[in-house]
Amino acid sequence: MFDTLSDRLTSVLQNLRGKGRLSDADIDATCREIRIALLEADVALPVVRAFIAGVKQRAKGAEVSQALNPAQQVVKIVNEELIGILGGETRRLNLAKNPPTVIMLAGLQGAGKTTLAGKLAKWLRGQGHAPLLVACDLQRPNAVTQLQVVGQRAGVAVFAPEPGNGVGDPVDVARRGIDEARRAQHDVVVVDTAGRLGIDEEMMRQAADIRQAVQPDEVLFVVDAMIGQDAVTTAEAFRDGVGFTGVVLTKLDGDARGGAALSVRQVTGQPIMFASNGEKLEDFDVFHPDRMASRILG
Ligand code: GDP
Repeated sequence: MFDTLSDRLTSVLQNLRGKGRLSDADIDATCREIRIALLEADVALPVVRAFIAGVKQRAKGAEVSQALNPAQQVVKIVNEELIGILGGETRRLNLAKNPPTVIMLAGLQGAGKTTLAGKLAKWLRGQGHAPLLVACDLQRPNAVTQLQVVGQRAGVAVFAPEPGNGVGDPVDVARRGIDEARRAQHDVVVVDTAGRLGIDEEMMRQAADIRQAVQPDEVLFVVDAMIGQDAVTTAEAFRDGVGFTGVVLTKLDGDARGGAALSVRQVTGQPIMFASNGEKLEDFDVFHPDRMASRILG
């Protein structure tokens, strides 16, 4: 997904190689090119501005280093600033002191929430937890069945409303799911919620009601990295309408530019915690800002 950005940044930085000393004009020219590369990759404008300001200020006042030549120093600064916009440290899941830990998923329809529920459950199992998936997406036809299928593939239990009782109340299902987790000694509950194709008040209210009712330890906003600038507007809408504690980027295997998704951390102030890069349950990992920065810088 970040190949073009990666190529551009690598070539901009390569142009500095061999220079014994960098003038302010060299740094300005480099920053102009980095700015264009980031904008073309769809990184949100305020994020680009802050990034460039940071690089420029540090590069111009660059510490004299015995170990690095000027070009290497700029690469180091760009790398560190990139890690900064991606969130700095890897953010671990917040586990409840008194289990079960409740993780609620929120996001638009098609973002990849249900798939993610399976991925997360499988990953949690690998970490020694006993997760329970709770099907609160009662809107989309087949969402409950889809969760049962991914649950089965992940080898984890799924709590779902009994069929045939009408649409049902997702808040009630969430509550009963958590009771079931206590009863059956699951230490983590992953609550899948309904999305809509676009930002919708009713969807926000429903997600906010579930959040209010079950007081999750984490609310993960799931966003498709392929949707470009809408990733940022959707993130802002969910931040204001529901609130979230972490972000999951999905479809990083796609060929869209992806920079908008990378801006979500900076725009919302909440960390990117996981990333998905495929349809299979294994195509998923903890998000490490430093590794992503290295990948982008080639
Ligand atoms: P939901 O409506 O938010 O629950 O979204 P789904 O989990 O149903 O996912 C929507 C579509 O995106 C499905 O076809 C998934 O297979 C696909 N999908 C989910 N995550 C990824 C991913 O990381 N990469 C790719 N390529 N497809 C994904």
